[in-house]
Amino acid sequence: MTKEELWQATLAQLQFQISPANFATWLKNTYIFSQKEGQVLVSVPNNFSKEWLEQKYNKLIFKILRSLQGDLKEVSYAVERQGVKQKEAALRTPTLPQEPQLEFQELRVDKSTNLNSRYGFSNFVVGPFNELAHAASTAVAKSPGSVYNPLFIYGGTGLGKTHLLQAVGNQVAKDLNQKKIRYMSSERFTSGVVTSIRNRTIDTFRSSWRELDILILDDVQFLTGKDKTQEELFHTFNTLYERGKQIIFSSDRPPKAIAALEERLRSRFEGGMLADISSPDFETRMAIVKSKAQERNVEVPDEIASYIASNIQRNIRELEGAITRLIAFFQLNSRAPTLQEAKGLLKNVIQAPSKFVTPKRIIQAVSEFYDLKEKEMIAASRKQEVVRPRQVAMYLLRGELRSSYPFIGKRFGGKDHTTAIYACSKIEKELQASESLVEEINLIRQRIYSV
Ligand code: ADP
Ligand code: MG
Repeated sequence: MTKEELWQATLAQLQFQISPANFATWLKNTYIFSQKEGQVLVSVPNNFSKEWLEQKYNKLIFKILRSLQGDLKEVSYAVERQGVKQKEAALRTPTLPQEPQLEFQELRVDKSTNLNSRYGFSNFVVGPFNELAHAASTAVAKSPGSVYNPLFIYGGTGLGKTHLLQAVGNQVAKDLNQKKIRYMSSERFTSGVVTSIRNRTIDTFRSSWRELDILILDDVQFLTGKDKTQEELFHTFNTLYERGKQIIFSSDRPPKAIAALEERLRSRFEGGMLADISSPDFETRMAIVKSKAQERNVEVPDEIASYIASNIQRNIRELEGAITRLIAFFQLNSRAPTLQEAKGLLKNVIQAPSKFVTPKRIIQAVSEFYDLKEKEMIAASRKQEVVRPRQVAMYLLRGELRSSYPFIGKRFGGKDHTTAIYACSKIEKELQASESLVEEINLIRQRIYSV
């Protein structure tokens, strides 16, 4: 086997074991540079690929290579110095003009399923923070209605819930094209219920839902307090579930943290698989930047990708915003920006957290999360449903902004600093014992940083 054939065979196997997005990101432009006496040296295009392959995939690559070449002892990776030609090519690639994005995306939404074909598994980057949700989603896409039913995915804004939900729908639509699939936001579902009650068409409305094979309902936290809609959903759920149809939900928080949700609906939500998506780690943020840029035929220099990945941490939608700006630069100038230029381009997107996180923002995020009015939370009420959120808000002011206890006390209706100290230590203690509180506070943090 020549070294080219050996690497081709290795890549062919790797492809089945790594998500397509990761594969494209980390293994593109790699090849075996040399191979002798059991030593294989793989050439990689940059340091990030090198690190990633060494740290994450070395074992796997070694195993595959070993199965192909029995005398293998060691695999190593090296960055090849970019030849002049390669550099030139990289600078020339990205000038294709793009269609205006909005128009493009609207075109891709299917009228009957509401699915947007831009969301697939192949362009979804997987990392530790979304692994479980991704695994559950692919399992459901493979055999809808049988493995995890319902599937309930939750996590903060802009972290990929809608993408995953739609990817399941798109995958099933492709594999089994006679299936009836419908994706809908909970807000639209709600207005559907309201309108059909008003127009006395609720029967038609009902049956249109109950004949589905797959129902995907996004952002069910918006069902809070909508009793009629909840009731309608409850019955639709039961009908579908009894018929072995797949139901998928998403929410920005776990079912138990959705206020004003009918108990019977909550228990339905919790009856299947719950999977969370948290904030992406640095490596995955890098992978996302790279793969998004590649999708649009742009090669982002490593130092810029790394600058973006280090500075935008909590929200993938923002990462995309940054990439879009870079791409606009590429298109105008037919070259990559320098790091300095990139910093200029991104200065509205990237801000140091402490600059834009303010006490007001924290209080707002907490009160939104618990569905309270800010005033209620600040006022002197001792009702339990207010006391706990207030303590959480105090805890976050302390933790995220290092606010002093007297300041925190004052901010909450002129309370004494001992109240603030008590609140913080109480929450800290509870955090030791309650995983659900840890989760709750993480979700609030994501909100604070993600808007
Ligand atoms: P949410 O519904 O959780 O608010 P979205 O699914 O709308 O978030 O994701 C926001 C944007 O980030 C979308 O454009 C989506 O394609 C992208 N995105 C989210 N997660 C990933 C991922 N793991 N890999 C690639 N793109 C992602
Ligand atoms: Mg969404």
